[in-house]
Amino acid sequence: MIDTHIHSDARSGEDFEKMYLSGIDSAISCSFYPYTLFNEEVLLNHLEKILNYDSKRGKKYGLDLKVALGIHPMNSYIKPDLIYENLYKWIENKDIVAIGEIGLEKLTEDEISVFKKQLEIGDETKTKVIVHTPRKRKEEVLKVINDIIPQHIDEKLVVIDHINPNVINQVINKDYTIGLTVQPNKMEKEEAIAILNEYGYDRFLLNSDISYKPSNPLSVVETIRELKRKGVDNKEIEKVAYKNAKNFFKI
Ligand SMILES: [Zn+2]
Repeated sequence: MIDTHIHSDARSGEDFEKMYLSGIDSAISCSFYPYTLFNEEVLLNHLEKILNYDSKRGKKYGLDLKVALGIHPMNSYIKPDLIYENLYKWIENKDIVAIGEIGLEKLTEDEISVFKKQLEIGDETKTKVIVHTPRKRKEEVLKVINDIIPQHIDEKLVVIDHINPNVINQVINKDYTIGLTVQPNKMEKEEAIAILNEYGYDRFLLNSDISYKPSNPLSVVETIRELKRKGVDNKEIEKVAYKNAKNFFKI
């Protein structure tokens, strides 16, 4: 199984081991720095830590950690040029499988300009992007995201993440791949399963988004096992367990 969105820097090796032993082979670790960034070099250090340190830590516990780097909307008040330069380098070196997570949270001017620039880097280099949608004002912010994306990037390169039953209608008619985050206080596995049953299994990815916030490292496993218990066709289950992620991210 592949967990398509986690925050490895916030989690212990014991969590990685628990995931591995429960059947998660691979996870994609995304960027987000939870504390005040005194400058852009602090963010660069955070990103390089995920790339060079967490991926080794994952491997030690059995987990194949892939990496997505970029400027999270909550971190977009720093001077971004140093990170843009490094993004080109990481893409060129094939260090990262996507730019992410990027997106919008509070709709500040900084957020919007950093979001647009990272979409443009994705489009120019044909790199996938993982787009965060916020917990608060999700509908309203998603509307702005939907306006911005087609002006800056091919929709086929985009994962729109943290989608729930309230906003599925805003994204189902786009060319995006859609991320379902099963996490305490965000979405229950039953809600994710209801979306899959209604819209089919072809365009969806599952993830736990484990972070410093309340998290369940096994939420992807539990969702997949629940699909099996419900008797869903194995071919369909395999799509959201790993096939869609493998094909989309080419991992
Ligand atoms: Zn996240």
